[in-house]
This record gives sequence, structure tokens and C-alpha cells, in this order.
Amino acid sequence: MAAKHLAPKEQIYTIALAGNPNAGKTSIFNNLTGSRQHVGNWPGVTVEIKEGSVTYQGRRIKVVDLPGTYSLGAYSEDELIARDFIIRERPDVVINVIDGTNLERNLYLTVQLLELGLNVVIALNMFDEVQSRGFQVDHLRLSQLLGVPVVPTVGTRGEGSRALVEAAVAAPPRLEAPFRIDYGKELEAKLASLERLLAHQGAFPGAPGGRWLALKLIEGDETACTMLRRSPGGSSLLQAAAASRETIGRKLGEDVETIVADRRYRHIGAIAGRCLVKPSGGGEAGSLSDRIDAVVTHRYLGLPLFLLAMVAVFQFSFTLSGPLVEGIEGGMAWLVESVAGVLSAMDTPAVVGSLLSEGVIAGVGSVLAFIPNIFLLFLAISLLEDSGYMARAAFIMDRFMHSLGLHGRSFIPLLLGFGCNVPAIMATRTLENKKDRLLTILINPLMSCSARLPVYVLFVGAFYSSYQGLVIFSLYLLGILLAVLMGRLFKTFLFPGDTAPFVMELPPYRLPTLKGLLIHLWERGGGFLRRAGTIIVCASVVIWALSNLPWGAAFASPQSYLGRIGGLFAPLLKPAGFGQWEAAAALIFGLLAKEVVVSTLAVVYSAAETGLAGVIAARWTPLSAYAFMVMTLIYIPCVATIAAIRKETNSWSWTGFAAGYSLVLGWVMAVLVYRIGLLLGWG
Ligand code: GDP
Ligand code: MG
Repeated sequence: MAAKHLAPKEQIYTIALAGNPNAGKTSIFNNLTGSRQHVGNWPGVTVEIKEGSVTYQGRRIKVVDLPGTYSLGAYSEDELIARDFIIRERPDVVINVIDGTNLERNLYLTVQLLELGLNVVIALNMFDEVQSRGFQVDHLRLSQLLGVPVVPTVGTRGEGSRALVEAAVAAPPRLEAPFRIDYGKELEAKLASLERLLAHQGAFPGAPGGRWLALKLIEGDETACTMLRRSPGGSSLLQAAAASRETIGRKLGEDVETIVADRRYRHIGAIAGRCLVKPSGGGEAGSLSDRIDAVVTHRYLGLPLFLLAMVAVFQFSFTLSGPLVEGIEGGMAWLVESVAGVLSAMDTPAVVGSLLSEGVIAGVGSVLAFIPNIFLLFLAISLLEDSGYMARAAFIMDRFMHSLGLHGRSFIPLLLGFGCNVPAIMATRTLENKKDRLLTILINPLMSCSARLPVYVLFVGAFYSSYQGLVIFSLYLLGILLAVLMGRLFKTFLFPGDTAPFVMELPPYRLPTLKGLLIHLWERGGGFLRRAGTIIVCASVVIWALSNLPWGAAFASPQSYLGRIGGLFAPLLKPAGFGQWEAAAALIFGLLAKEVVVSTLAVVYSAAETGLAGVIAARWTPLSAYAFMVMTLIYIPCVATIAAIRKETNSWSWTGFAAGYSLVLGWVMAVLVYRIGLLLGWG
């Protein structure tokens, strides 16, 4: 029976995963397809459409993970992405992942999917929590009431995945009686007449069911209206819809959206009432979570606790990584010696040896040496994220950010910026308001990404050995403070207006899963490794070549091309205390990727006897080093980030503005730090 409904062999059978944020879609997606997408215990993690495939009965099935949405409205970019996909691509089946512990709220999206006339299979996820919290959900009853299959699943353990695919492939092409909610006499009458008009006009390309479209038109949904405006005869239909909206508003004293939402909730309430029994009293787990929240989201304690947690994270990763870094450095030194030995035994020209040891190994090795730091830092941050604490941090910061006129939801993309600014800038798609979104994009590069960490670690290791974690934390904090400050400035002068209130539900605390942690590490640390193997290798070779040319110039001397390029800009950096050509060259090439700042220094200093840290200790002071770290933190985002800004803002002027302001700000801050430091006698 299952095979009957399969599309012909050539056609690809598509399953889309839809559901509320944090319902477990990505976990299920990973289970079905064996992929390793980012799973995080908070809303707003998936903002892009991710594709994978699963083989079932010898056939490949395409599986698509959609951004989480509460509704099929069109309020924010991610909702639009999900809705567009469903309407335009018409997946064969939509697996609607719902959080079983939040049935009523999750069903709000479900009824809309059903109203669209889609083939829906419901994954009743978090079934372990449903049971442990003492909820009783009658999934067979739910299936009857909604008229679609319901499969209990546990996303974290992969339970129910197989049954889901089976149900999805066997799902009937369409329900015999379409799912409908009664919207009341007045609205129903208008719907029916508009639906007739629509049918009369003929089908609109890409348009879903007539009733759904009619409803959207009466609601005044922008996308639906635009779609109609372009089709012949559309404008008269639009007028009819607008007139209906007006009449209803006048007659019932409420706008259509409110009426629709109200009727849907009533319908859902009735369904939930018939298949869900909640335990009396809060349940043990709930109250423990509440007690923790009372402390960590406390009005006065919350922020200090958050800062403390972050300091602990940094200190943790630095204390643990110390011995590992030494190991890697020892390995590198050994590698350089062995390579030199092999090359001299093989009688290769000296230039090859120099390219390998002073170029590639010095450059890439200097960056690789920071892997333990970076991985441990991400491990610690992932633990906070997966446990659900980061969602609390966002909640705490919301109050703080709101008092500064920023939108609380901006905090999430900002926080993702600690990993890499590129996905973080993409994550701004969850922001509904265009101005808030632009603002968040503009200040995002001030969040210190992992690529800047090697620069800090290098200088901090040379000068601030006992307070490493604290000094590095101060740079992260500086980035945050500047982001807040600049946000405030931009808000006042570029995007005046009110900020909408921010509602974010707090997910329950969860024990992080090993799989989730590994995915995080791979995703963030893996990107770091990939860059080390590609862009940093290339940059090291180029820098090595520029240090050797023109023929006759001594290696890495001011007369080399690199020396001349750096020398051109060095005077500009003098007020900040690091007017050396090496520093200027490192900053220029650091635009490619900020790790290149370190690899450039490693190459140009590689000739020295004392090793990288030794040269730095000899030629820099703690103060100039700090000013340089501040500069590295702020000045112009790397090219990948610039490209992301361009893509998401779709504007060269905003992109130029982002690069320009950060360059000026970086310079000003570095000079300030250096000058104030001198005044205080820290020179
Ligand atoms: P998405 O936002 O819908 O893609 O949800 P994710 O797949 O990122 O999952 C959100 C959080 O819920 C993560 O912390 C998951 O580990 C967790 N999670 C997912 N499915 C289950 C489940 O069935 N039971 C429990 N206890 N946790 C789950
Ligand atoms: Mg997701």
C-alpha cells in the first residue's frame, strides 16, 4: 500500500520538516539523514533551509530542515523562508515536529499546515519529557482529531525516526475531507464569496488552496496580496478582499487576524482537551527548573552571574589548554627540524626549505597551536548553550539591551558571533524589524570571533601569563560594550524609532548530549581547521614570498616587498604604539582572515632565534600588545564577514559603512588605550 503513493521513479520525493523553534526539528533531521547540523537548546538556531537525504526501500528521499516558525504568517525573514518553501516547492509530505510538552502552542502551526491542504505527518517529539513530566498524551486520539498520522519520537535518541519515514511515505495524497476551522458566520460568508471569485478567475500559478488564499487576502497578508496583484484580474479581487476586511472589522469590532487567531486557539483548546492530561501541580522537574531560573534570571544577580560564568569559561579553557599547547609547540619544533634534516639530506635548494619551514610551517603552525584553546572554549560555550543557560543569558541581556534601546532578540545573533560572524550575521534573519536587523548586522563584527583568539593568546601568553583568561575576557567584554555603545549611537542617529518588545520562551534545562557537543565542536572548530588548511596556508606562502622579494633583499627586512607595504602604513599606527611595519603588514593581511595576523607575524619573525613568543616579548610592551589586540578586535571585519554583510543587507553602502566605521573605531580605541596607558605610567 505504501508504494502506491510514491512518486514515479524519476521524481524526487521530498519531505520537509516544519515546526516551532526548539521543537527538535534539527535533531530529527540529523537522525533521518545522518547529517550533523547544529542543534541548540534555544530558538533561532536554524535560519537556513538545510537539505539531506534518506534511503527508504531502495529509494532516495530528500529531507529538508526548515527554520522554526510559530506560524505561517510572514513576520520575519525565517518565517517567510519556511512558508515560501512550503508553498512554492510543495513538498510531498510535511513532517510537523511538535514539542509534546507544549502541545497547545505547537498545534497553532499544525492547524495552519493542515489548512493549507498539505500532507502532514506529526512527530510528537520530546516524548521522553512528556512521560517524565507526567503528561498523558493520547497520540492515537490526536491522530483521529487531526486526521493525520501522529508518531511519538525522541529526537535526542533517534527513537521513532524509522516510523516517521514509513508514515511519511505512506501518507495519503490528500485528506478526503479537508481540515477546516469554523471562523464564524460573518467571516465564513466572506471567505466563501471570495473563494468563489478566486475560482472564477482561474488558478493562480503557485497558489495553494482557494480557502487558504482567500483567508490570507482578507487578513491583508502582504505576500499573498503581492502575488495576486501581479496576476490578471487581481486588483478587483484585492478590492473585494479589502472591503470584506473592512466590513468585518466594523461589524465585529475586531480585526480579522485577531478573530482568526482566536478561533484557531479555541479549536486547538478543544483538541487538546480531548487528548491531553496534564499532571496536577507543576511536577518535580518544572519546579527545579523554576528555582534555578529564579536565581540565574534574578533582576540583580542575573547579570553578574552571567559575567562570572563567562570568566569561568575562559579561565577553564586556558588552564586546561596550557599543557596541550606546549605539546603542539614541541611537535611543531620537531617537525621543522625533521623537515630541515630531510631536505638537507636530499640536497634540495635552500629556498624550498625556507618556504616550508619559514613559510608554511611557521604560518600554519602558529595558528594550529591555538587549537586546544579554541576547542576547549567552544566546548564550554556549547555546554552552556545545550543546557539551556544561554537562553537565560539572552533573557537577562534583553532587559539590559532594552534599556539601551536595542532589541533583546539581537542578543542571539550577537552571541553566535563569538563563534564566527558569518553565520551570526545570517542569524539576524530571525529579527522581524528591518531596522533592528540592520543594526544587529552592523554591530555584529564587534563580537570577538574565534579567529581573533589566536592573536590574543599569542600576546597574552608573552606578557600576561598569570591573568590570561581575565585579559582575554576583557577584550571580549570590550567588544560587547562597544557593540552596545555603537548600537545605541546608530539607533539614535540612523534608525530612530521604538523597539518592539521581545518575547522569548525559556526552554527547559536539558542535559547536553554528547552528540550535540561533538556537532558543535566540529562545526566551529572544524571551520577553524579548514581555514588553517586553505586560506592560511596560501596567505603564509604569499607572505613568505613577499618577505623574500625582491631578489637580494634580506628575508623579512624593511626592504622586502612586505616590509615596504607595511612601512607605508606603519606611521599611521605609531600613535597606537605599534608603528612597526610587521604589525602593519599583519593587520593588512589579517583582512583575509584574522588568524593571518598571527601567521604573518610568525613568518616575519621566524628567522629569530628566540621563537615567536620571544621576539614578541623583546619588541613589544604589554601596553602596545594590548593596544594591538584592541585593534585586531575592532578594525574592519574579515572578507568573509564583509561578504556576509553585503549579502544580508543587499547594499554596498551599508557594507562600506560597516567596514569604514570599524576601521576608524579600531584605530581610535587602540590609540586611546595606548595613550591612556602611557599617562597612567604603564608604558
Ligand atoms: P529545532 O530548533 O527545532 O531544530 O530543535 P533542535 O533539534 O535544535 O533541538 C532543540 C533542543 O531540544 C536540543 O537541546 C535538543 O537536544 C533537544 N531535543 C530534541 N529532541 C528531543 C527529545 O525528543 N527529547 C528531549 N529531552 N530533548 C530533545
Ligand atoms: Mg533547528
